[in-house]
Amino acid sequence: SKCEANYVPLSPLTFLKRAAAVYGNRTSIIYEGTRFNWLQTYDRCRRLASSLRSLNMPKHGVVSVLAPNIPAMYEMHFAVPMAEAVLNTINVRLDAKNVASILRHSEAKVFFVDCQYVQLAREALKLYFVEDTDAAGPRVILIDDIDSPTGIRFGEFEYEQFVQMGDPRFLPEEIHDEWDPITLNYTSGTTSAPKGVVYSHRGAYLSTLSLILGWEMGSAPVYLWSLPMFHCNGWTFTWGVAARGGTNVCLRNTTAVTHMCCAPIVFNILLQAKPEERKEIASPVQILTGGAPPPASLLEEIELLGFHVTHAYGLTEATGPALVCEWQSSWNQLPKPDQAKLKARQGISILTLADVDVKNLDTMSSVPRDGKTMGEIVLRGSSIMKGYLKNEEATSQSFKNGWFRTGDVGVIHPDGYLEIKDRSKDVIISGGENISSVELENVLFRHPRVLEAAVVAMPHPQWGESPCAFISVKTNSAGKTDDVNEADILSYCRENLSRFMVPKKVVILPELPKTATGKIQKFQLRALAKNFAVS
Ligand code: ADP
Repeated sequence: SKCEANYVPLSPLTFLKRAAAVYGNRTSIIYEGTRFNWLQTYDRCRRLASSLRSLNMPKHGVVSVLAPNIPAMYEMHFAVPMAEAVLNTINVRLDAKNVASILRHSEAKVFFVDCQYVQLAREALKLYFVEDTDAAGPRVILIDDIDSPTGIRFGEFEYEQFVQMGDPRFLPEEIHDEWDPITLNYTSGTTSAPKGVVYSHRGAYLSTLSLILGWEMGSAPVYLWSLPMFHCNGWTFTWGVAARGGTNVCLRNTTAVTHMCCAPIVFNILLQAKPEERKEIASPVQILTGGAPPPASLLEEIELLGFHVTHAYGLTEATGPALVCEWQSSWNQLPKPDQAKLKARQGISILTLADVDVKNLDTMSSVPRDGKTMGEIVLRGSSIMKGYLKNEEATSQSFKNGWFRTGDVGVIHPDGYLEIKDRSKDVIISGGENISSVELENVLFRHPRVLEAAVVAMPHPQWGESPCAFISVKTNSAGKTDDVNEADILSYCRENLSRFMVPKKVVILPELPKTATGKIQKFQLRALAKNFAVS
């Protein structure tokens, strides 16, 4: 039909072409001494795509990269799919064994390595070939520092040379199927072994639009790359900044930014900054936060500093943020602590996600909207992954009746907003009572000296499990932390929590163990907690 002939598959690649046409002279990227505009970025991406094509990779072959937030990393988000390949950004904090297993599992054909990570890449490749001595292995390309080249020799080409080899007139093939893969992101393995999450062009396109609309990101944002691009493709803002003709500010630059994304843990860094490190914020900075529950107390403090925070919830499988705590103007009248409590809730689905619910998984019925009854958070719609690469079993387990299971436990409030109570693996079941670790942590965070808090289950002979709290402490005015002890925290808990929720043990550590994305590793703490179990 006529209408079919007019159909164009959805892909975020269209954002770059448009940015070059409309915002050609606007600055696209700032990195140390380097600046590009959108025309140059488009040109460089076409060259890079054409060079990649000349390597004769199979269609949808995987291109892996180990790099921080630098221009090359940004360019690859467009150039790799333009070459009909799939971009796999690897978390740079993984060890060589994990990097090797990702290269093997994804059957990576090309491996870009930033000069900072040559040692890690060398070790990973060594392990890769130990497992399979006959393997062809990926073609290796070094990314040297664009501003101050180190001259390190590694791999077949250097990135700049590889880009310049390419044809700036290269015209990528039109995407034939919007369901084609665009990127591959391995989960960070907070709860289980990493799985390869595949995004489609369609999913990436719709999630990007959803987030720039949901966050009200207007024209020409100046976006600070604080969130690693290797984390869910920078929650899609890699493509989103092009869509808005904005400027990508790669770290260590002091340009006045308007937008940034970060995990709540970063608030601690901002709040702990010494007076001499602080600068006046000229215009309000919009922060999108998520990845872990932001305690209401932290939201309140950070907003007092002049940041405006939007809270989102998501996961790798949902192309990053899937829910957003949409602000209601009627909340403006409430006292600040109440506002922070409302904002600490995970909210409602983003624009392009069709549906979200909290269900009892046995009956698949929705829990009542009472803010109390817990169930599993399930999602449906366009931003959900295609599936896990080469892992049918995990893929089918993660869907039920067409819903994607997040593995998170939550409640629905009477106003329809969702609140996460825990990851299902983290819920503490004490004497048949479900204790939400998130709720307990929120109370601990309100203690003026608590810097970090995580509560896990510890075995208990009478109750089955009981809560064990791990905290780290803020320094006092004398720069000391040893004036707070377990008994102080316990008596604070007794004053502020129902009896059954009070931790049976409080452990003070210098710092809590975290994953590469700044999430607290509860499995490590659970192992530690066993040592404190009452027998
Ligand atoms: P991993 O599961 O390996 O940590 P993800 O980055 O996909 O990797 O993490 C997704 C999980 O992070 C969610 O399932 C949820 O448990 C948690 N999470 C993400 N955003 C929030 C949020 N705003 N509030 C509470 N928890 C969150």
